[in-house]
Amino acid sequence: MATYAAPGQPDSVVSFKPRYDHYIGGEYVAPAKGQYFENPTPITGRTFTEVARGTADDVEKALDAAEGAASAWGRTAVTERANVLTTMADRIEANLERIAVAESWENGKAVRETLAADIPLAIDHLRYFAGAIRAQEGHLSQIDEDTVAYHFHEPLGVVGQIIPWNFPILMAIWKLAPALAAGNAVVLKPAEQTPASIHVLLDVIGDLLPAGVLNVVNGFGVEAGKPLASSSRIRKIAFTGETTTGRLISQYASENLIPVTLELGGKSPNIFFDDVAAQQDAFYDKALEGFAMFALNQGEVCTCPSRALVQGGIYDEFVAQGVKRAEQVKMGNPLDTETMMGAQASNDQLEKILSYIDIGRQEGAKVLTGGERADLGGELSGGYYVQPTVFEGQNSMRIFQEEIFGPVLSVARFTDYADAMTQANDTLYGLGAGVWSRDTNTAYRAGRDIQAGRVWVNNYHAYPAHAAFGGYKQSGIGRENHKMMLDHYQQTKNILQSYSDNAL
Ligand code: NAD
Repeated sequence: MATYAAPGQPDSVVSFKPRYDHYIGGEYVAPAKGQYFENPTPITGRTFTEVARGTADDVEKALDAAEGAASAWGRTAVTERANVLTTMADRIEANLERIAVAESWENGKAVRETLAADIPLAIDHLRYFAGAIRAQEGHLSQIDEDTVAYHFHEPLGVVGQIIPWNFPILMAIWKLAPALAAGNAVVLKPAEQTPASIHVLLDVIGDLLPAGVLNVVNGFGVEAGKPLASSSRIRKIAFTGETTTGRLISQYASENLIPVTLELGGKSPNIFFDDVAAQQDAFYDKALEGFAMFALNQGEVCTCPSRALVQGGIYDEFVAQGVKRAEQVKMGNPLDTETMMGAQASNDQLEKILSYIDIGRQEGAKVLTGGERADLGGELSGGYYVQPTVFEGQNSMRIFQEEIFGPVLSVARFTDYADAMTQANDTLYGLGAGVWSRDTNTAYRAGRDIQAGRVWVNNYHAYPAHAAFGGYKQSGIGRENHKMMLDHYQQTKNILQSYSDNAL
């Protein structure tokens, strides 16, 4: 067990600057209006840095820089771009602890996850797209003996990217890796709750890219995000965040007729069939762990398995054991490597979660465990902690239908396969789902019948770079991860060439 020293303390692996400006054209640029906002750590609730409050003028400046850099970057050899991405990955790996602690401090998540998952996944993502762009090939169609149609992949130019606060580094890299690999210049807006760890990342990798290829404008949604997403100077907007915001982004993009990719909310079902309990073996234990996965990242995951559907034959025993497993999730100081669940990312988020816990009680759902704010004492008393909470209720309740984005699980019973599918698909969302069964036919059928972009079968919360990720229904448009994502950042140039002098 180890506890990392908090940033600012003498033996800490990371220190934040007292103030962060925008990163435009390869340098730090003060906000046009001269305003900054405070950035607190969810671990103690105290402000640790202040950040430039961006507006339309700052976005314009970033777009100037990106436009200046896009053409040259788009024409670099793919090998060169791939090498830059690989070097970025190497640098991040060499600075793993520094970036992981920075992200934990800013977001409140447990450092054991940022060390073992968030940052290593970001590194792998860069390496994957470095390889994918080198392996990409164009197409050739032979129209007739003397005529050939060539299809080239070309970058879009300047693209906008807007990301949320739940995985500040990983969400940035999920978007940056394919965009940069494909030869685009980027203006990125981080979430206002977690703007600083991206700048720690930029300190590590910023010099690897030509000035202007990657620009970061900080600030709030309407003040900085909207001018970016609605700008006629971008050729595409990529967004991750809430479904309601995604709808707005889509409207802005439609004005400029640009493509939009949206990674939005979810209310993912996690389905446990009776045969899971056929034996009390390693598989059964793994399924219990899958049940408790709602608490991973404090439940602040778009694919949080927030609805457990458990078949009647095993319901009482399985749910009782699942609740016990949830109670073993160790809460504590996020900078302690033993801690499994840290703080919620912001005070607003804490209040939203507590209000949903009230709603659940008012709806008549039964609290099986948790249900309160957690006071971890000492310095942590000012932080934003919630107990892992399990409700038992009905799929029609608001706590089963609305995204809470916290460590709150809603559990319901199902009778048979058809009932499981009805309840699983009775949602506006379609991002993730889990299916647990020893019967491969049942598992496969459920995988096909569930209306979600990602169905984990006998596992959950794995995010390999080469598996496509994205939403059905109101969970989004387009995919992230997998080389197919390059399509979202490229356009096709067709050259139709005649090699004949014959008259037309
Ligand atoms: P949010 O929509 O409030 O904010 C996301 C980003 O959008 C922030 O950077 C914010 O400043 C910006 N924004 C807000 N209003 C805007 C506007 N009018 N114009 C332009 N930009 C605007 O979401 P959040 O609360 O930060 O993030 C949580 C949400 O993200 C959850 O719903 C979660 O499910 C979703 N999420 C989805 C995925 C996925 O891959 N599908 C991944 C992570 C998070």
